[in-house]
Amino acid sequence: MIYNDFQDMKLSALGFGAMRLPVLPDGSGAIDQEELDRMVDAAMDAGVNYFDTAYPYHGGLSEIALGKSLSRYPRESWNLADKFPGHQNVHGVKPLIPEEVFEEQLRRCGVDYFDFYLMHNVNENSMRYYCDPDNHFLEYFLEQKAKGRIRHLGFSCHAGPDGLERFLEMHGEHMEFCQIQLNFVDWTLQDAKRKCEILKAAGLPVWVMEPVRGGRLAKFGEEIEGKMRAFRPEESTPAWAFRWLRTVPKPTMILSGMSNLSQMQDNLKTFAEEKPLNEDELQLLSDVAAGIAKLIPCTGCRYCCAGCPMELNIPNLLSMANDMAVDKSFNTVARYSALEDGKRADSCIGCGQCMEACPQKINVPEEMQKLAELMSAQKSWEEICKEREAAAEALKKGK
Ligand code: SF4
Ligand code: SF4
Repeated sequence: MIYNDFQDMKLSALGFGAMRLPVLPDGSGAIDQEELDRMVDAAMDAGVNYFDTAYPYHGGLSEIALGKSLSRYPRESWNLADKFPGHQNVHGVKPLIPEEVFEEQLRRCGVDYFDFYLMHNVNENSMRYYCDPDNHFLEYFLEQKAKGRIRHLGFSCHAGPDGLERFLEMHGEHMEFCQIQLNFVDWTLQDAKRKCEILKAAGLPVWVMEPVRGGRLAKFGEEIEGKMRAFRPEESTPAWAFRWLRTVPKPTMILSGMSNLSQMQDNLKTFAEEKPLNEDELQLLSDVAAGIAKLIPCTGCRYCCAGCPMELNIPNLLSMANDMAVDKSFNTVARYSALEDGKRADSCIGCGQCMEACPQKINVPEEMQKLAELMSAQKSWEEICKEREAAAEALKKGK
């Protein structure tokens, strides 16, 4: 395992993010605790010592499941990071009282302190809640830090570079690290390069989230993956995204939200040793990024969903829009037409709630309109099926 220095600690360069844990196949959404235990065992065996959860992950079940799994190991052998969901105030899910949330988080995780604690999703909207002195958020966290219940205080940030600077001006002196979305596409697409420069100037180490953009950078199709294999036959596609991070921005922590044991094993193999990318390999990723940057940059975080009056599955619809941009496949048309009436893109009323909630600043109503128009111009799935049947019939008859 590769390690990085953070203050007087050695942190594994790979952190286990518990945002997309394995779930049971019964549709209940319950976490597969046995699979999670196997993943944690593999991580601990390989020297991972950083585990990251958050109040809203899996509706609160992530904190419980991860805490339970880690409790099988001595407390001092792992570092647990949790996050205060101040951004939820923006969506009006429930008014937050930091004392209540923090105590509940400790209870859920089964711990009496957090090694790392973050203000979750600081962005241009949530900043006003995080920085409002009447909310006493920072004051409360600093009190907990003085009591040893928070060892290190930081924040995760989806704001643009200007927003990041504004937050640092207000709270920077109390922050010890900052978690940002960083990968070889967002380096330019989300101006992550500039954010790294701002954090470096502020003396804050960088923690990385979304290193493979919710899986988008883990699969590129045969043409690109063939080129990757020609350079590095022994490495998986996701390994490239991690190698880029270790070669270019060199952050202190890279969090990967792993969903099964095989992803964990692949990542552990990648982080077992340093294998920086060479110039040709970096150029290949730069070319790949140029193609991807044209797609809608949705990460599937679902922050937009709670406020949608039409209860649309927005990330699902945006992923279909991206699929269609890459390849107008039958499968995507089928997925779209299989949606319930009232749940397709043409049901968007353009209220704009989602835009305020979106950390990626996606103009969702505009994308919904484009998708609705694109899909209405496609043949229906039934028509496609009939054509295919007719073609198959014709083949059989030798026509
Ligand atoms: S603009 Fe459309 S997608 Fe966004 S919240 Fe409103 S109805 Fe939902
Ligand atoms: S549209 Fe924005 S808020 Fe919604 S899932 Fe995508 S990235 Fe997240």
